[in-house]
Amino acid sequence: MHTTLHSPHQRLGHTTPAMSSHTRVALVTGSNKGIGLAIVRELCRQFSGDVVLTARDVVRGQAAVKQLEAEGLSPRFHQLDINDLQSIRVLRDFLCKEYGGLDVLVNNAAITPRTLRAANPTPFHTQAEMMMKTNFVGTRDVCTELLPLIRPKGRVVNVSSTEGVRALNECSPELQQKFKSETITEEELVGLMNKFVEDTKNGVHRKEGWSDSTYGVTKIGVSVLSRIYARKLSEQRAGDKILLNACCPGWVRTDMGGPKAPKSPEEGAETPVYLALLPSDAEGPHGQFVSDKKVVEWGVLPESFPWVNA
Ligand code: NAP
Repeated sequence: MHTTLHSPHQRLGHTTPAMSSHTRVALVTGSNKGIGLAIVRELCRQFSGDVVLTARDVVRGQAAVKQLEAEGLSPRFHQLDINDLQSIRVLRDFLCKEYGGLDVLVNNAAITPRTLRAANPTPFHTQAEMMMKTNFVGTRDVCTELLPLIRPKGRVVNVSSTEGVRALNECSPELQQKFKSETITEEELVGLMNKFVEDTKNGVHRKEGWSDSTYGVTKIGVSVLSRIYARKLSEQRAGDKILLNACCPGWVRTDMGGPKAPKSPEEGAETPVYLALLPSDAEGPHGQFVSDKKVVEWGVLPESFPWVNA
């Protein structure tokens, strides 16, 4: 499906100021633990408005809210499983009803090989399918439903990974050219992500020029999707000054990053929070890949991440 980023108010012919009477609101996906929880904590401290912590599991989500409440913070909670379109739409309706829009969206939820292995060792192609379903398809579905709600001067942060940059560099020159293209469309990107999963099923992904890192390929998808959406926002909502970027939080001690990672979840949250709180008069960054609060040219490994080659 082709994603259109016009706000519902614009589509209905209303003017966007109608939404401005509402409380401002920020939302983080997959925020019951890890970097997502640290992002919510920091937004509760710094964002002027409500902050919504979301989790696919209500019990885990409410436990995280209690933890933050014990620290004197007041996030709201809403269930969100990014693999479940119905769950995304219920959240969309909640935001429309309670807030009339959305000011900050942080797409943080993801799964990794580590998470999958711990849950259930599966064949490579099944892991590829499951990881693609959450990391790329789920993130895209959230964007399809929630980007039209983003108000003028809104901020969107897609938490990607330098592992995606490493995977990109392992792909064939033909694939690299496609993923670096300034004109690649959403449909072409979806086609390539589907092809990767098919190629793993048929045991030909290396022959077809893909990296062996399934997680990395899903994060190529997230980063390229961010470039495409930023372009669409510039075209379709010029003047609304919405800034949308992808970022890498660094190597962070979480279920995903493991105990040896050098950064704490709070340090991992710094770059996503920086992008979520870019001042209202900021002209950029927009459509960039950001690491350690600095724009990194798409496809180039940041020097600060020798660990990605480990
Ligand atoms: P984490 O500790 O494994 O937490 C992942 C979060 O995503 C959890 O809250 C998890 O919920 C949630 N999640 C998974 N599937 C979901 C679904 N279908 N719907 C909603 N939520 C879902 O991971 P993390 O290290 O904090 O990673 C956060 C982000 O940073 C990810 O995008 C990751 O790719 C990126 N990143 C991390 C590192 C690192 O070193 N940690 C490095 C580069 C990039 P459950 O608790 O229910 O499983």
